[in-house]
Amino acid sequence: MTPKDNNKNNALMLLRECPSCRSRYTHASVQVLSANEKGSLVSFTCGECRLDVLVAVSPMPFGLVGTGMPTDCATDEVMRFMDSNEITEDDVIEVHQLLANTAQ
Ligand SMILES: [Zn+2]
Repeated sequence: MTPKDNNKNNALMLLRECPSCRSRYTHASVQVLSANEKGSLVSFTCGECRLDVLVAVSPMPFGLVGTGMPTDCATDEVMRFMDSNEITEDDVIEVHQLLANTAQ
């Protein structure tokens, strides 16, 4: 089994069915977007209602923990946001100044 298959199995243990229509996920519903020692990011796509759910799987001392959220981002969009830079304080100040200037 490859590490990605392993991640798929772990993800399927955390989330078994679609939160919207309750249909069971299969291996084909699951896509591992990224995986490293800190955890993995897994995308579930429901075969029935097409709902996409993103799940961040993190290893904890007591086992795996999954945090899921439904998304309307396509998988390639998710990958694009993951690659983008984090928002820094400077970015926030810059936007704040832009807004302040427009208000005048
Ligand atoms: Zn569904």
